[in-house]
Amino acid sequence: MPEPLTVLDTLRRPMRDLRVSVTDRCNFRCVYCMPKEVFGRDHAFLPRAEILDFEEIERVVRASVALGVRKVRLTGGEPLVRRGIEKLVAMLRSVDGIEDLTLTTNASLLADRAQVLADAGLDRVTVSLDAVDDATFQSMNDVGFPVARVLDGIAAADAAGLGPVKVNAVIRRGLNEHAIVDLAEHFRGSGTTVRFIEYMDVGHSNGWRLDDVVPAAEIAAAIDARWPIEAVDPSYRGEVARRYRYRDGAGEIGVISSVTQPFCGDCTRARLSADGQVYTCLFATGGHDLRAVLRSGATDAELVEAMRVVWSGRDDRYSELRTLETVNLPKVEMSFIGG
Ligand code: SF4
Repeated sequence: MPEPLTVLDTLRRPMRDLRVSVTDRCNFRCVYCMPKEVFGRDHAFLPRAEILDFEEIERVVRASVALGVRKVRLTGGEPLVRRGIEKLVAMLRSVDGIEDLTLTTNASLLADRAQVLADAGLDRVTVSLDAVDDATFQSMNDVGFPVARVLDGIAAADAAGLGPVKVNAVIRRGLNEHAIVDLAEHFRGSGTTVRFIEYMDVGHSNGWRLDDVVPAAEIAAAIDARWPIEAVDPSYRGEVARRYRYRDGAGEIGVISSVTQPFCGDCTRARLSADGQVYTCLFATGGHDLRAVLRSGATDAELVEAMRVVWSGRDDRYSELRTLETVNLPKVEMSFIGG
């Protein structure tokens, strides 16, 4: 494989991670991401013709690997609602240079699909689970989906070799802060690491308020009060979660603190939406149209150049610059670019 070009953005950050949203659809209506009031029955999701097909996604991934990407994460919406996703996994597995091919899912369909995804070449999965009691979890996913079936999906992923599974839990004050200790207790000693995510002002539909944020320090303190923990050094530049290990050896937890302890300085993530736009920040208000490049008959070299231009002009550091004014910007929805 030819030596990758290392492209740096204006803050000298390399592009190491590509998050690929394969659909804007989801079978959950999580209140902090896809509230029902906005994403109701009449919501216009992307028409089929506007969505990148697997061959187009593969071309973008190859171009991004040529520019230094080493980690590819499949996301959505909910990626497992995209038909034939295991075929895409197999196609991407054949791309030289990808060191980590992962997928983030709500696990609603994982119990039946974990083995085929593993057989297709997927390395790992991350599961979104905001509580381990049904009342809280169902009030957050807003479609009455039970915890037990998510846990079945996690067990199936572990059995298929897609572990160690990571669990992401968004903590929103007034909804599930009590679930912090419950989640930690449920997964302690299991090999599954829970990452607690500060509630973020993603998109422009979730009615975000600073008062609803449970700061990372408060989350860590709640767990430390129950089971003493100690900080662990990051294992690589751009690692999103701050890691802590239980002093009694029962594993680790993570905290993702975009609001109270931003980490933009080490952000190496690009995002591709299902309709072929590249977003250089989770809180972006606009993307760069790669689909037009793809469908204009561009060569692979022209595609690489188009991505190089996008990344080298990047100066995003939204979380470091967040103010109460920026909160209301027309930011892209998280469900559109997959967190
Ligand atoms: S706010 Fe944007 S630049 Fe900062 S870490 Fe998040 S995605 Fe990266």
